[in-house]
Amino acid sequence: MNSAVKDSKSLLLIRDLHVSVEGKEILKGIDLDIKRGEIHAIMGPNGSGKSTLAMAIMGHPSYRIEKGEILLKGEDISRLPADERARLGLFLCFQYPVSVEGVSVANFMRSALSAVKGREFIEKMSIPRFKLYLKERIKEIGLNPELAKRYVNDGFSGGEKKRFEILQLQLLEPEIAILDEMDSGLDIDALKIASDGVMKYFNPERAILMITHYQRILNYVKPHFVHVLMDGKIVQSGGLELSQQLEEKGYQWVKENGGKDGKV
Ligand code: ADP
Ligand code: MG
Repeated sequence: MNSAVKDSKSLLLIRDLHVSVEGKEILKGIDLDIKRGEIHAIMGPNGSGKSTLAMAIMGHPSYRIEKGEILLKGEDISRLPADERARLGLFLCFQYPVSVEGVSVANFMRSALSAVKGREFIEKMSIPRFKLYLKERIKEIGLNPELAKRYVNDGFSGGEKKRFEILQLQLLEPEIAILDEMDSGLDIDALKIASDGVMKYFNPERAILMITHYQRILNYVKPHFVHVLMDGKIVQSGGLELSQQLEEKGYQWVKENGGKDGKV
């Protein structure tokens, strides 16, 4: 009974999650407990399974959940399709956003808002008013408002793609946001703008799971908890200081310290 009370406070609770891709086990038993008002960072070397974790939480069909549970606000979402997970309050900023030819940013955002927040929400605003509103928000994130007319991610630079992902986050207002390597391909100014955008989204009712290879972004979006993922398992957890130690000493240091029990 005690554990049920504890679970109800978790926004996202992951228990013993095993995930395979094309028949190969990638995640080998992940446990994570994310509450409202918390920012968690997952750090790990390339190929450790970070994006696999993001894809499995979001419900990408190629990532098979072999064992374990993913509870969102106490409800097991691990068998639900991705669009239902989004309606329940999840959002994933992709490491590699795809382009959608023939669909303008404005139309895409209108459909996404309608799908996630309900048709009534979007029908309250006329199309010209919506376009004006969208252009304002595009300007705020440091992009040219003409972006609204372009096809989604088509010919966007790396920085434009990332900022467009953050814009989606701000407009869709999910309860929990998973950000997969949002710092990759951003120069220092773009990183600052994108991070400010993320912090503008964040509040005590929401939570963030920040996935990153590098410590740099965590200077701007400061996590309360840092977890190190290696070979499909969380081998060590700690606070912000853990990410700083990783930056100095590298991932090899975690291995040599034997993971969880390693003392500095
Ligand atoms: P990270 O994001 O930490 O760099 P990934 O989750 O992308 O790691 O990858 C972990 C492992 O899973 C790698 O060995 C990778 O080749 C494999 N993998 C991930 N996605 C796929 C996929 N769609 N098809 C085949 N293998 C994949
Ligand atoms: Mg990745």
